[in-house]
Amino acid sequence: IVIKYLKCLLKATMTSLLRRIEDDNMTETLVDNAEDNLETQALSNDHLFTADDSQESYDSSSSACRRRAASIEWPPRKQPRTVETVQVGCLNVISGKYESLDYDIPDSDLLLDEERNSGFKYETKKNITRWLVFMLIGVFTAGIGVFLDIAIDQLSEIKYETLKHYVDTCVKENCLYLPYLMWVAFNVFFVLISSLLVTYVEPVAAGSGIPQVKCYLNGVKIPRVVRIKTLFVKVIGVVSSVVGGLAVGKEGPMIHSGAVVAAGISQGKSTTFGRDFKIFHFFREDHEKRDFVSGGAAAGVAAAFGSPVGGVLFTLEEGTSFWNQSLTWRVFLSAMVSTFTLNSILSMYHGYPAQLWVAGLLSFGKFPDIPYSRFELFIYMGMGLVGGLFGALFNYINYHLTVFRMRYINNKLSMKVLEAALVAATTATVGFAMIYFLNDCRPLGQDPTKFPIQVFCGDGEYNALGALWFQTPETSVKSLFQDPPGSHKVTSLSLFFVLYFLLSIWTYGLSLSAGLFIPSLLTGAAWGRLTGMGLMWLFPNQSWIDLRKYALIGAAAQLGGVVRMTISLTVILIEATGNIAFGLPLMLTLICAKWMGDFFNEGIYDIHIMLAGVPLLSWDPPPLSHDIYASEIMSHPVVVLRTTERVARIVQILTAETHNGFPVVDPGHELQSEKISFGKLRGLILRHQLIVLLQNKIFNERMDLWDSKNLEVALKLFRNEYPRYPHIQDISLSSAEMRCTVDLRPFMNSSPYTVIHSMTLPRVFRIFRALGLRHLPVIDDTNQVVGMVTRKDLVRYRVHHHNGHMTREELKISEK
Ligand code: ATP
Repeated sequence: IVIKYLKCLLKATMTSLLRRIEDDNMTETLVDNAEDNLETQALSNDHLFTADDSQESYDSSSSACRRRAASIEWPPRKQPRTVETVQVGCLNVISGKYESLDYDIPDSDLLLDEERNSGFKYETKKNITRWLVFMLIGVFTAGIGVFLDIAIDQLSEIKYETLKHYVDTCVKENCLYLPYLMWVAFNVFFVLISSLLVTYVEPVAAGSGIPQVKCYLNGVKIPRVVRIKTLFVKVIGVVSSVVGGLAVGKEGPMIHSGAVVAAGISQGKSTTFGRDFKIFHFFREDHEKRDFVSGGAAAGVAAAFGSPVGGVLFTLEEGTSFWNQSLTWRVFLSAMVSTFTLNSILSMYHGYPAQLWVAGLLSFGKFPDIPYSRFELFIYMGMGLVGGLFGALFNYINYHLTVFRMRYINNKLSMKVLEAALVAATTATVGFAMIYFLNDCRPLGQDPTKFPIQVFCGDGEYNALGALWFQTPETSVKSLFQDPPGSHKVTSLSLFFVLYFLLSIWTYGLSLSAGLFIPSLLTGAAWGRLTGMGLMWLFPNQSWIDLRKYALIGAAAQLGGVVRMTISLTVILIEATGNIAFGLPLMLTLICAKWMGDFFNEGIYDIHIMLAGVPLLSWDPPPLSHDIYASEIMSHPVVVLRTTERVARIVQILTAETHNGFPVVDPGHELQSEKISFGKLRGLILRHQLIVLLQNKIFNERMDLWDSKNLEVALKLFRNEYPRYPHIQDISLSSAEMRCTVDLRPFMNSSPYTVIHSMTLPRVFRIFRALGLRHLPVIDDTNQVVGMVTRKDLVRYRVHHHNGHMTREELKISEK
């Protein structure tokens, strides 16, 4: 029994001993594991705070993590990212003077209350009105197109009829200097009207307006770009420039005109005329206005080229930062209505009221099904490459010319006008010299020209170059497309191409309203036709060689090489020629032209946008930028306001700072300085909101005036001031009012989009771009505001293409 008892005791002791050893082992493992975990956590936390501290413990971790840790700086460095001014001709400085549009819908209590009170009926009403406004935009844009067409048609007829009369008479009487001087006088007179208007009345109406519309749709506020005054100057300016005989067209400006019409109609008021029609007040917000401007731009393209689908694609390709299905429908409606209205009125004007046959302002003539062989696709692609080369050359020379203008001409207004007059006189001189010296005679009746001049040709003949110059550039494009073979000599067409190419380079960028599409199409059609003539000479009697095809491909290649549009231009040309079968050759040509052009430089619109230092956000973030973090992009420290803020401090901040958005933080935080504090993010408020609050004295101490019913009125107050808010200097406040406080909570955006400071640039960029934001506060993991990202902070990172090389560069922001 004793032995048995001792055995049991030993066994029990051994078991408990073993269990204890096992437990100890387990604890050790757990402790080890826990320590490991803690270490790992420390690593991941470390990389959020100090890169230097975490460096040692990182040596054993993966190299990817090591890179990530090493690249984050905390606290963020203050970068020397500003320069004083944009240097003339500099392509890598962003101008600080441009502000952004607010495309984000703020999530304020005020807006929520409005939505709650108005209900679905209000939403339906808003939607129906929206459709109606899009229709009206189509109608009015077409109306402007009709006015342009008829005015240019009538005035050109008077001009060329008079010149023809004098040329015909003076050839016999040996006084040809007289029609020459008259031609110069006509050109200079009309061009002066356009140039004086643009230079002294509204400079933003210069050029085609496409770059400005592109910037607007991208989210950049270009001052005065969608005002009535701009539209007026643009329309009169375009008529004068085209009748003035310059190498320009009216099609590009139609896009800008459509955009202004859209912005005007949709707001139900005109700030220029000081009239408020008390309608459409719910559309007085940037994001609503942007949608209408998209519709206007599409309606402009549709009216100009008779191309509604091209119009929709143009707005999609060239800018609109936000797009959805219902917007597509509305934009399409406005483009369709525009084409239909223009077609109806112009058909009536041309004497065919029952038929609709004038689809757009630009007519390429009839392009019935022209067959093409498969091997020809290679010729078209080759032509596309040549077009890309010519386009790059155009852009290169025009860039240097623009820089020269910025340095030596633009600072004196009179010089701008003089230059425009000089170009007008030179254009007339070039035209006259070509007619005088090149005796390109053709038998009458071949060319459907309206004012054939005989000059030194025999009886029954006319001067083919005279026919090209004695009509508007639009009609000349049609002639080069449609003239039968044998209508032009190789020498005269070659010289016309070279001289017109140089003239169009000189003309683009003058201080007047004019477009670039037509001169590019005309020079392209000239060398395209020459290519066709060369093929005819090489392969005589081949049925596949049709001059129309080659002129069209040349025109497409040249235009694509200059502007670098692909999808929209393809569709515009398909719709303008009415020949769907030719879609593939056009597409291949345009793609090749773009690739070749992009190898050397940017498209002409982008070059002019970059020269102006506009912070345009590209479609995608710069490649290979995952090693850049929000903490490096953002501005730091941030100027913030507290949820309940003193009026005096708001006034002081608005006066001292130029920022347009301020994060709102918890009131419990102590200010680090009068201007700056850290705190938990509660919302975001915009400068114009603060100004409206101060202007209407919505202060806590005066809440007796602002009961809840009256606060509903507050949203209207913001809309009534839109888009021209007063400056802080215009607000007068007594010293008693300065001591008041404002509760910012009902007005601020209480759930602004934010990013964590360790987010990479591509992600920040995508959030900012896709949501059309203006301010993106950066927070740390305790929701404290630590930085601010705006458009200019993101645009700074860019990949530069030069001669086929890609380099990443960081642009500077100018203070002015
Ligand atoms: P926008 O000009 O786009 O309308 P904004 O005027 O508020 O917006 P920007 O002019 O883009 O701002 O800002 C210039 C610089 O100031 C940017 O680097 C931006 O990060 C920084 N910034 C903007 N708001 C603040 C702020 N509240 N506190 C500190 N820095 C800011």
